[in-house]
Formats: sequence, C-alpha cells, structure tokens
Amino acid sequence: MEPLADGDEQCPACLTRKSASPNLRFKINNKCYHRICESCIDRVYASGGQHTCPYPHCKNTFWKNAWRTQTFEDLNVEKEVNIRRDIYSTLNKEEGDFISKRAYDDFLELREMFVMNLLLGTEAQATRRKLNEYKEANGLVRLKDEAAGPKGKIKRTSATPVAATAAAAAAVVDDDYPDRSGLIEGLKRIVIPEVLPPYDPLQGVPLHKDYFTITDDGINMDTGYEQYRKDEMLAIEGYDFREALEETLTRAFAGLGVFIQAEKSTTLTAPVVGLDDPF
Ligand SMILES: [Zn+2]
Ligand SMILES: [Zn+2]
Repeated sequence: MEPLADGDEQCPACLTRKSASPNLRFKINNKCYHRICESCIDRVYASGGQHTCPYPHCKNTFWKNAWRTQTFEDLNVEKEVNIRRDIYSTLNKEEGDFISKRAYDDFLELREMFVMNLLLGTEAQATRRKLNEYKEANGLVRLKDEAAGPKGKIKRTSATPVAATAAAAAAVVDDDYPDRSGLIEGLKRIVIPEVLPPYDPLQGVPLHKDYFTITDDGINMDTGYEQYRKDEMLAIEGYDFREALEETLTRAFAGLGVFIQAEKSTTLTAPVVGLDDPF
C-alpha cells in the first residue's frame, strides 16, 4: 500500500501501522503488487497451498513463494524492472537476428510498447495474450504458473511447437522463419548450411600408394629404375641408380632380420619372393 498522507505505512489486510509497529515489514508479488505485511502472509499461508491475495477484494491467487521482499523503494520502479525482465527474457532477439537496423529498431519499439502496456495497464490483456502466443508458437513454455514468480523457468521444448489458439495458428508463418507466431517482423531466416564432405587432411593425395604389385613370379617393384637408368643427364652426374636402389632396399629390410636367401633354401612350400634381386 502506498504511504499514508501522514507518511505512515499501513498493511491493507490487518491495518497495522508502521508507526505503531516499527518492525512491520512488507512483501509484494509480481502480479497485483499489493504490499502486505509479513505476519499477514505467514498467517494466510499457515495451512500451505494457494491463497488469494489478502488485499481487500483482490482476486489473484498465489503460492507463498510468489511473495517476496521489495527490491526498490519505489513500487513503480519495482514493477517496471520486473515487467522488463520478463518481457526481455521472452522477446530476446539481438540486432544480428534482424535483416536490417530498421527491422531491429521496429522490434525494440514493439518491445517497449509491450513494457508500457503492461506497466500502465493499457491493453494489458491483449499484450499478455500476444506474449503467450509468441511463447507457445516458439516452444517457450513456462514450467510453473506465472504466480510462482521470477523463479518460474522458461524451457525450450524439443517437440515441434504447436500453436495452441486459433489466433496463433492463423499467424503461423513458414517453417524457416525464426518467429513462428509472426509477432516479430524482419528476422533473418534460418539457413541450414550445406553438408560438407568429410575432412581430408591429405587434400586429395592418395593414402595408399602402389609401390609394388604381386605377380606369380614374385613382387614386381615399381621402382622407376628403368626410367631413370635411361636418363643420360643423370648418368653423366655419375649417380648409379642400381647402386642407390640396392642400398635403399638394404636399409629398408635390414632391421627386419629377414634373410631371403636362407628362407628360400629351407622353405619349400612358400612362394618365392623375388626381393633379393628385384632386377
Ligand atoms: Zn498485515
Ligand atoms: Zn492483490
């Protein structure tokens, strides 16, 4: 309740005055913003459950946790902050979500209009209805009743949002538009990026190279020896490819402990592998 003319404060339910009871403390809720003293709240909710607001003739019903201590001294500031927090968490688009600065400005204007509508009580019903349609169409569903206060969480449902009311159903726009209720205009459309091929670290270079082919006679090493042996320019350099190749093969197989000549002499059934002399 607003301060009395003489500057005193009074609980509208039990009529206790602050001047008579200095320990008098008030609680408010986020719906009707009636200031009720703590002892009245405790008395009303002594039996648990939901109860109507103790303010005379107020019809709003609340759980006890909807009543909280006032944050700001000015009840109007308190109310505006709560309304803004609620609307901003629902209409939470950013400039990057819009196709143009102009569309973003229009959105901010719309949001401000909603705040003022709820704050001043002008078209409050229509505004709440639009907000609810927006939430339902976009899968933003409150888990608890709004009377539960700011603790009521917003949950994004994974199921396809279904417009609950006929009005919302009529306003539903096509699937790739981010606001399925059609309340916010000028949003960028959701573009699903093309599926990229799997990452290839070798950039197309084949992982497996056919350095040799297995034939009936053994292994045919594709050493390229014949090609280089005929290259006179390389021969002039004095570089003997046969020698280089032999050394390369020796180094490649030396550590394996494979003595091919010895294996050939003792193993009769094994296929002959021509590694000892690829030429
Ligand atoms: Zn009271
Ligand atoms: Zn009330």
